[in-house]
Amino acid sequence: MWLRYGVDLDLILVPIEDVLRGRTQLKCPYCGGELTAKKGNRKEHHFAHTNFTCREVANRSEREIPTLPLYNNFNICLTGKELQQIKTLWNRYGWKNKGIYESKINSIFIKEKLLEYNEYRLYGEYQFTKLGKIPVGALSLMLFNQVQESILWEKLQQLEKKVQVAYLDDASNFHECLWDLQIYRAELKKILSNTLYYLQIDTDKETFYKIGVTRREIQARVAEVQTDLVKHFSHVSIKVLGHWSHRGNVEKYFKYRYADYNCSIGSLTEYYKFDNPEDATAALRDLRRMKKKQLSEFEVDILAGKPSWIEQLIEEIEEERA
Ligand SMILES: [Zn+2]
Repeated sequence: MWLRYGVDLDLILVPIEDVLRGRTQLKCPYCGGELTAKKGNRKEHHFAHTNFTCREVANRSEREIPTLPLYNNFNICLTGKELQQIKTLWNRYGWKNKGIYESKINSIFIKEKLLEYNEYRLYGEYQFTKLGKIPVGALSLMLFNQVQESILWEKLQQLEKKVQVAYLDDASNFHECLWDLQIYRAELKKILSNTLYYLQIDTDKETFYKIGVTRREIQARVAEVQTDLVKHFSHVSIKVLGHWSHRGNVEKYFKYRYADYNCSIGSLTEYYKFDNPEDATAALRDLRRMKKKQLSEFEVDILAGKPSWIEQLIEEIEEERA
């Protein structure tokens, strides 16, 4: 797995974004080994063990990693071939809302709840679920939020449960489970801290759109974008079409869903160009239909950096014992 957090001397998690590349003073949360920050251009930025990679980091399957589900990976653990198969089903049946016969279906799609049985269909008894529309980029942003949020919370509960069980069993993997939970909460905090923004950029040549996230005031970010773009165009005018607090979770899915419209300006990415105005309007409507994010009690605690209920409970028990 990619390790994206190290711990400092106070045992506080530090994300890869907050350090410079090269050797660091940080340690691996799982084994205490020294870490080197790998921040090149080709691979996702991550920490590597300066010496030997520990078992906890090396031997993880995709599903065991404490990363946010449906955050920057939308293939729902399908192989390349399966992803192609489901895209074909979408293009033949799904987008026209036509039923699909079981004989045409790879059973993994039913097992993973990407397709569901509908007894009221006359021809072809299976149809796409909301989850199933995600790998093909067909689910609206509004519904994506619903689906992702419930999966995010489900995984949080699983990680909390694992900590609880490991603690009660006095298991050797207790600390591993605890770091998994803390890393996961740090990831949740990151997306909740971010504001999603969408800009319209009129230049002397063309109109572009830009999606992004920031933790600062939108206008500060707009000024930076302006600075980036004046190197490429003689006229640049930026309009903020919308911003959505606590919606850092949507940025990557937007990029996935609208990948066909993505264009680069020099080395700049995250820009979009629509061939016809209807497509641009549809993308904006897709964003604007998202409900305003209402933070739950749990989310407020995560944003405040409070420990999880299970960590608090364990701390209380340990204090009583001491
Ligand atoms: Zn390690």
